[in-house]
Amino acid sequence: KRVVFSGIQPTGVPHIGNHLGALAQWQRLVREVAAQPEKSRDELYFSVVGMHALTVPQDPIRLRQERRDMFAVLLALGLTDPKAGAAVFHQDQVLEHGELAWYLNTVTPVNRLMRMTTWKSKLVTLRNAKSEDEIDDSMLQLGLLAYPVLQAADILLYRTTHVPVGHDQSQHLELCRDIAQVFNRAYPGRRRDGKGKGKGPFRMPEVMLTTHPRIQSLRNPLQKMSKSAPSEASKIYLTDSPETIHSKIKTAVTDSIQGVTWDPENRPGIATLLQIYEGYSGEPVEEIAKRYTGQRGIMEMKADLGECVSEGLRGFREEFARIRTEEAFLREKEREGADKARATAARTMEDVRAAIGLD
Ligand code: ATP
Ligand code: MG
Repeated sequence: KRVVFSGIQPTGVPHIGNHLGALAQWQRLVREVAAQPEKSRDELYFSVVGMHALTVPQDPIRLRQERRDMFAVLLALGLTDPKAGAAVFHQDQVLEHGELAWYLNTVTPVNRLMRMTTWKSKLVTLRNAKSEDEIDDSMLQLGLLAYPVLQAADILLYRTTHVPVGHDQSQHLELCRDIAQVFNRAYPGRRRDGKGKGKGPFRMPEVMLTTHPRIQSLRNPLQKMSKSAPSEASKIYLTDSPETIHSKIKTAVTDSIQGVTWDPENRPGIATLLQIYEGYSGEPVEEIAKRYTGQRGIMEMKADLGECVSEGLRGFREEFARIRTEEAFLREKEREGADKARATAARTMEDVRAAIGLD
């Protein structure tokens, strides 16, 4: 039986990169599990990870809104289908995440965290902004360094076996496995029957890499499409209107070569559009490219892509608009999800506390 955990930060409405790279896989899992017999169903945990959002500066009013919207997004994507029984919840409503993160901090080497690309790229950004001795140390918070440990806690708390994430997350998963191993060795606990040592409280999670590639920014095909990137035109939100989708695709950066070809190395802008097209049509990139060879090939492809994406998101868009303002319904679903998650989290933490001697 699989136990799946995955999270998304409430740092804005998700974009099609988040969808193709992560959320579409959550939807597939829900469909799969909904078809399983109830007794042997896989367990699914999908979380809005509010505590992670604080690793960059946040405005409370805005965070509150985005956190609520993200939850509504997950409902509108159909993740709470009762036939699948997934726990869809706010990480910050299950306090065990913070508790476990602290315990994991105590076995995590700082230099391991300093090797994370997320941390290193932050250092590079700061160094580029100013000369090295002018780096303002107050901009390097412990939370940003330590958030991969909180992420490990998110995963280990549910004794997760499978973690569906995008390609930018494999390094964190590796760290999570290492932390689990070190912790299990340091705190094996007792065997359930009381005879001899146990194997520690955690299971080794495996990464479930999405088959879909990372989607790049529409403004700069050398950067990934990112929620927190300031440029609105660089990403298509799941909630964008058909008009907005069409206009963002129309102005997406491509190149001056005639026609459309699949050549990610030399034509990264075109490649991004083809990947999005494949993502929403199911048709392979090469097949799509073949249809647009003429002089106006790129323009024609962009027009068809706009149609394909806006149709692909229609059902979601309508559902989101419908439930977004249904406060009571949303609060009820939040409660349900948190209760479900908390039940599992509480069991893990009993074992953890017993293993370390804080029971
Ligand atoms: P932020 O800029 O705030 O970090 P993000 O766009 O990177 O936002 P996350 O909430 O960090 O989004 O990630 C949610 C999920 O989406 C993760 O599984 C991540 O791997 C995946 N993901 C993020 N960006 C992309 C992308 N451009 N293409 C494919 N998958 C992505
Ligand atoms: Mg991210």
